[in-house]
Amino acid sequence: MFEKKHHNYSYALVISELITLAHRHNFSIKKIGEERFEHIGMTYPLYRFTVNPRAPKKFCIIAGVHGYEIAGPLTIPHLFEFPKKYFNKEIAYYIYPILNPTSFDLDRRMDDDNRDLNCLNRRTLKSRNYREIQAFYNDIKKMRFDALISMHEDLDEKNFYAYVFEREKNPVYRRIVRSASRFTGVETKKSIYQSPSDGHGLVINVHDQAIEDRFFCMKQAKTSLTSETPGKLDIGLRIKINLENIKIINRSILSRRSG
Ligand SMILES: [Zn+2]
Repeated sequence: MFEKKHHNYSYALVISELITLAHRHNFSIKKIGEERFEHIGMTYPLYRFTVNPRAPKKFCIIAGVHGYEIAGPLTIPHLFEFPKKYFNKEIAYYIYPILNPTSFDLDRRMDDDNRDLNCLNRRTLKSRNYREIQAFYNDIKKMRFDALISMHEDLDEKNFYAYVFEREKNPVYRRIVRSASRFTGVETKKSIYQSPSDGHGLVINVHDQAIEDRFFCMKQAKTSLTSETPGKLDIGLRIKINLENIKIINRSILSRRSG
């Protein structure tokens, strides 16, 4: 028969917890669209949570693009539980906790249509197999962010790495790698999935049409990155790395002069 290999969470479980916490702390909850899992006749609502909507700076946090990479989605309840620790009043947070709910429940990378959702381009914005990406994009296509992070995982890895898109090495990326190195190793390979790496955990400027690549290229996010926590590390530490990264990005947003 079948078994879930990576986790035993469900979309309903995580989202209902987030909705409870959002009510407790007055975060706004918006249904941005839905994904219909035709094969089983089930419809999944897609959500965006917003914290401090009127704050001058803007930070977009994305998780759960690939369903079996669970540290990102499981980081969000921690943020919501301790808002004073992780959310700054000067920053509006746009949070997409599980962008790919069917893959989360199926405990795999692809959605129910067997598509990899980490692709935002003209083709996926038209295809009926990418409704999740369309709902997300329609929700924020007019927004400009000070920072955007998409939290992924590399399930085969023991070491941390990240994808960034700036030619000039923004020191925030170095701080993220240094912070992760307190909890685990940093990937030193010169090539990560055929993309050249700096040998210190960063793949720089490889345009792969991922969501964060697109937002950076369209100048919709000044700082944009994909973090890859290592799936072979304890889940508590993977979440801890993500939480620290959010704090580091907060500080970098606040230290930047406006304009
Ligand atoms: Zn991924």
